[in-house]
Amino acid sequence: MTPEELFKKVEAFLKAQHEVYAPVGDIPLPAVTGSAALPLQESPAKIVASGNPAAAAGSSQPNPVDASPDQQHPTETKADTLIQSLQDCKTLDALRELCEAAAVLRTDLTGTRLVFGKGNPKADLMLIGEAPGAKEDELGEPFVGASGNLLTKILAAIKVDRSQIYIANILKHRPPDNRNPTAEERARSLPFLERQIDLIQPKLILCLGLISAQTLLNTTTALKDMRGTFHPYRGAELMVTYHPAALLRNKHLKRDTWEDVQKLRQRYDILGCEPVLLPYLQS
Ligand code: URA
Repeated sequence: MTPEELFKKVEAFLKAQHEVYAPVGDIPLPAVTGSAALPLQESPAKIVASGNPAAAAGSSQPNPVDASPDQQHPTETKADTLIQSLQDCKTLDALRELCEAAAVLRTDLTGTRLVFGKGNPKADLMLIGEAPGAKEDELGEPFVGASGNLLTKILAAIKVDRSQIYIANILKHRPPDNRNPTAEERARSLPFLERQIDLIQPKLILCLGLISAQTLLNTTTALKDMRGTFHPYRGAELMVTYHPAALLRNKHLKRDTWEDVQKLRQRYDILGCEPVLLPYLQS
């Protein structure tokens, strides 16, 4: 590579960084604020344990399915039925159909649309947000509102197109007034998301925000203590970063997020993930 080419690449890299994020000197980093800072009251496992027959084994044990009792074998619990129904879903289309029919995925906001998830079903990188908002509910797709626009820019800065990856949320229905999903709602939705992850089998998962990270990792750890490293999760490596909505509220979080996604991109290349992406230093 000639010095001119190298200079051009570095220039393009800095330009992308500047467009998406605050300038490099933009320190100090305050504590996380807004929804990204709200601690979960109870872990999903605890909620599951306290509220239904799926209690026994924590977050992998789902809540009752919405089948009528006479459809079930006498010794079969609703949780057994749901586990079986999820296992029977061998494709994302089949899982989507199950989700469409699952009242257990709904919040207390009536008339909402299923936001199942979108993207490459064979993606090696999966992004997981929190819950659909108004725009997502309207269009039935994740991250299509203001946060989604920023997310698209963040991804473009590391040369990732949304069509190459898969994006989903912890909840598949919108909560009222954009409130945080409750621990109980998260526990009810988790088995469906776990099945979705198992069907896609990503090598890398990026959790966007505290709710996503705490739900998947079944912890109450602060976001700042989870980001920066890769966590083993269902055969994948899971990274945690700030939610785009938090970045819209607090630009001081942008620098850390920039570092996180670069690290993610490097890991993507090291693991030989598919599809092969454009070199992210390229203009
Ligand atoms: N925020 C999320 O967490 N998910 C979406 O789909 C949109 C906004």
